[in-house]
Amino acid sequence: MAAPYTGRCVCGAVTATIKGEPLAVAQCWCRQCQKLAGGAATVNARFDLGDVEITGELASYGYTAASGNAYTQMFCPSCGNPVMAKTSGRPNARTFRLGFLDEGHGLKPTISIWLSEAPDWAVVDPAIDQHQEQPPIPPPAD
Ligand SMILES: [Zn+2]
Ligand SMILES: [Zn+2]
Repeated sequence: MAAPYTGRCVCGAVTATIKGEPLAVAQCWCRQCQKLAGGAATVNARFDLGDVEITGELASYGYTAASGNAYTQMFCPSCGNPVMAKTSGRPNARTFRLGFLDEGHGLKPTISIWLSEAPDWAVVDPAIDQHQEQPPIPPPAD
């Protein structure tokens, strides 16, 4: 499937429409993501903020990520489903869990990061880019 992408939380109180293609789709094995994902990696699609439309109320929680960036996780206050995240490293982007997007989105990770924190049973597709930590953020293209 191609844009627009749609998504909804488990209870349906929060929905999203995303009208552009993702800038990146990544799997993250950092310890914080293992907590958020319930044990394995999170799988996240990063979109341009200008392409994102949200309906419904969001609750949020902020922390400093392993990369040193200030992260804000936004979730549905009634069902707790993760909706999206923002990071001080990329203020003009929003990151969505692939699981939040509606079935049939067809997106898959092309990069795996923070493998240094992955459990020893983690299996990563050898066909995708693998990084022990977070690769440096390239300068913005103008
Ligand atoms: Zn919900
Ligand atoms: Zn992570």
